[in-house]
Amino acid sequence: MRLLLVEDEKRMAQALGEILRQENYEVDSYTDGISGLAAIESAIYDLIVLDVMLPGMNGFEIARKARQMGIRTPILMLTAKSDLDDKVTGLDSGADDYLTKPFMTKELLARLRALARRGMNAPDGTLTFGDLSLDTNTLTLSCRTNGQSVKLGEKEYRILEYLITNQGQILTREQLAVKIWGFDSEAEYNNVEVYMSFTRKKLAFVGAKTEIKAVRGIGYELRYRDV
Ligand code: CA
Repeated sequence: MRLLLVEDEKRMAQALGEILRQENYEVDSYTDGISGLAAIESAIYDLIVLDVMLPGMNGFEIARKARQMGIRTPILMLTAKSDLDDKVTGLDSGADDYLTKPFMTKELLARLRALARRGMNAPDGTLTFGDLSLDTNTLTLSCRTNGQSVKLGEKEYRILEYLITNQGQILTREQLAVKIWGFDSEAEYNNVEVYMSFTRKKLAFVGAKTEIKAVRGIGYELRYRDV
């Protein structure tokens, strides 16, 4: 479970980060709204925990922008006040749940487990391109013409998800590295190539006629050869 935590109170962020890591969440932590939103745009999370009052951009705005971008990841909002307006605004902005500070660790963990279950049962969790169908909940790739399917590794899934959601565009190695590994460096470019080859093997395994084409010197794109 990959979790994004955006909380500007450093001690709180540190304590929460430790607790969540002990519970086996892979945690990315940011202390301002702008970086938090940038992280949501460039990585795929299973859960998002947003403080409301943040420098740069508040939690409500982040949630609203994430939903506008079509990101359906469950969001838990942390609110400092117990006042009803905050809760209503939070839920209106696209958050799935809220928790009033101070809260018990046990309660936070229970809410997160509930949200994670909800996320996995999200409706219409299917992306399609050509003869491909990608189940966003189970990370299963299927070929729609022959029914063959295979479970993808997380990186393979994210490569295909990124290519499918940007179909018709050539994605550069740099874009893929930043989107999937969070960094833009030579080491990450090698990762892109290695995982691109794993992903192609999965496409071949299900007998898909959709290919990941390398566009020399530019990047990659999905092509469906319907012959
Ligand atoms: Ca705060």
